[in-house]
Amino acid sequence: MEIIWRNVLVFIGLHVAALYGLLLLLTAAKVATLVWAYYLFIVGGFGIAAGAHKLWSHRSFKAILPFRILIAVAQTIALQDDIYQWSRDHRVHHKFSDTDADPYNSRRGFFFSHVGWLLCKKHPEVIRRGKTVDASDLLQDPVVVYQRKYYVPLALVCFALPAIVPWYFWGESFKTAFFVASVFRYVFTLHATWLTNSAAHIWGYHPYDKQMKPSDSRLAASFSLGEWHNYHHVFPGDYRVAELGSWRMSATVVVIDLFAWMGLIYDLKTVSPKIVRSRVLRTGDGTHPYALMENCPLTYSGDIAKTNTMSMAKFLKAGLPNNN
Ligand SMILES: [Zn+2]
Ligand SMILES: [Zn+2]
Repeated sequence: MEIIWRNVLVFIGLHVAALYGLLLLLTAAKVATLVWAYYLFIVGGFGIAAGAHKLWSHRSFKAILPFRILIAVAQTIALQDDIYQWSRDHRVHHKFSDTDADPYNSRRGFFFSHVGWLLCKKHPEVIRRGKTVDASDLLQDPVVVYQRKYYVPLALVCFALPAIVPWYFWGESFKTAFFVASVFRYVFTLHATWLTNSAAHIWGYHPYDKQMKPSDSRLAASFSLGEWHNYHHVFPGDYRVAELGSWRMSATVVVIDLFAWMGLIYDLKTVSPKIVRSRVLRTGDGTHPYALMENCPLTYSGDIAKTNTMSMAKFLKAGLPNNN
């Protein structure tokens, strides 16, 4: 493994600055600045979860041009590389999950899949097999092309503006605004995203497919605005990242549904409950309510529910899918 020391130094510096930002957040920042930083975390997180991930990596829905521009701005605020690069890496991740060809291969440990993959040269298999993944469709979208072409100046603006706004509009000290809303918020968003590549490939349940490593991890889902990863790897084309309304929640899906209702998003792809149920019963680890009902409807134990954070009452209230 060849370490890229420049990246290591950059990341150490960034984390020291983020810790200073955390100190200022706890001791000096105005309430408006905290709200602003949280708002940027949500906007950037949505740009990643719904934009780079669902819209561009997986083509789970379509969006009208003005909305694609807005969501590209949101994705730039998260500062996680341009949409093309992000989506390409992600497609390679799905195609070769948890192998040497996976950029964030979780079999190399938590640290590697979380951040270590950014600190060393790519495994030769990532480069060799990555060439077999087609991402040319992304370059048909002018939004992706222009964001990639002007990514550096756009990223600089998206890093500076979060600090300028609190300083200009409500008189926050520029130092506090910069370290809290730009640096700390950025590093926090990075870790929130990275948990999906690390924690959600190491810990958690496998209600849909017990053979694969991606898991439904509450920790990762809490920070990633509702990315339930076992479901997602089994049904990557589904715009939902959970069975919303039954036993998992996803803030991203709620917002996508809202924008769809407003007519900004359309052609949302989903998987039918019948297919989900059949997959659960065929390959799941038995923790899904479908499996529990199927296997022991009368002796269903609350212990399993507690450990798996599910609510059978809620699930039943939401209604079982129509199996016809
Ligand atoms: Zn994954
Ligand atoms: Zn994905």
